[in-house]
Amino acid sequence: MTENQLNLTGNILRIERSSIHDGSGLRTVVFLKGCPLSCSWCSTPESRNFEFEKGFAAELCLGCGKCAAVCKNNAIYIDPDNKAAVTDRNMCSCCFNCANVCPSNAVKTYGKTMTVSEVMDEIKKDEIFFYHSGGGITLSGGEPISQSDFSAALLRESRLLGINTALESCLYGNYKNIEKLLPWLDTLYADLKHMDYGMHEKWIGEDNSLILENLAKVNQSEYSPQIVIRVPLVPGFNDSDENLLATLQFCKSLNNLKGLELLPYHRLGVDSYRYLGLDYRCGEIPPPTAEWLSSRISFLKEHNSKLVISSGSGFNAK
Ligand code: SF4
Ligand code: SF4
Repeated sequence: MTENQLNLTGNILRIERSSIHDGSGLRTVVFLKGCPLSCSWCSTPESRNFEFEKGFAAELCLGCGKCAAVCKNNAIYIDPDNKAAVTDRNMCSCCFNCANVCPSNAVKTYGKTMTVSEVMDEIKKDEIFFYHSGGGITLSGGEPISQSDFSAALLRESRLLGINTALESCLYGNYKNIEKLLPWLDTLYADLKHMDYGMHEKWIGEDNSLILENLAKVNQSEYSPQIVIRVPLVPGFNDSDENLLATLQFCKSLNNLKGLELLPYHRLGVDSYRYLGLDYRCGEIPPPTAEWLSSRISFLKEHNSKLVISSGSGFNAK
């Protein structure tokens, strides 16, 4: 890899170690910031914006005023009634000086710039775990194909070190950006949220035609990785018999398909909405049960006994 490629920079949300849900073995997952879609149920709203963001956990604030003292934009004041910091987000430039001085971790920082070389230094620390578990690196987000040169460089550098590579993607983007990643990719986890054009557009902001087109192109590529289809299963949105059967039908067209995973809707990201001052739009959706998930998996297996169909969530479903 050239010096130029090692110095490429990307906008990273965070790096998580020892994940068991994002590929084979233990995975080091690099979450990139920024996603072109806006799923109503998104569990990582802090990953959606391409820009850096500041979050604030009011319940942790001591009202000490250290943050206000270092803010060069005068974006923070201490509310005398609540004795807690208040930030005018319009004046905040996300320099994160306030986070550096906050003694109680009330200020959350979402986003940092890293070079390919810096990310690889983090990944290399886990090589021994990859070796013993059959794991590797997984790029996730946000949407890694939106930072395609950076993502391709990470996958390539990992492959050259013999590290297994995986990508979690919604595949909403220019195919030229997806194509760059394929020669260095072992497994693609492709989100397939709904087979109906109109429902996809209504709940996600864009229709599904580009996604299906890109998935077909990946499948036909000479560099096609093995493909796992992931359906984020949301009650009342995409769990109908009709949509599941349409998903199975589409799966038949993929000759590099390794399996189909259902990821049940959850509310683990609700705190992040509060930290960002955003409304959570799916409060009416009931949290699903393991029985509901088992019944949906059973339904799929009744209609395709050959395809490997599972819960990709750690949910205790059969
Ligand atoms: S991130 Fe920087 S600009 Fe924004 S409130 Fe904190 S200190 Fe002020
Ligand atoms: S520095 Fe932290 S604890 Fe102190 S007022 Fe600011 S946000 Fe609250």
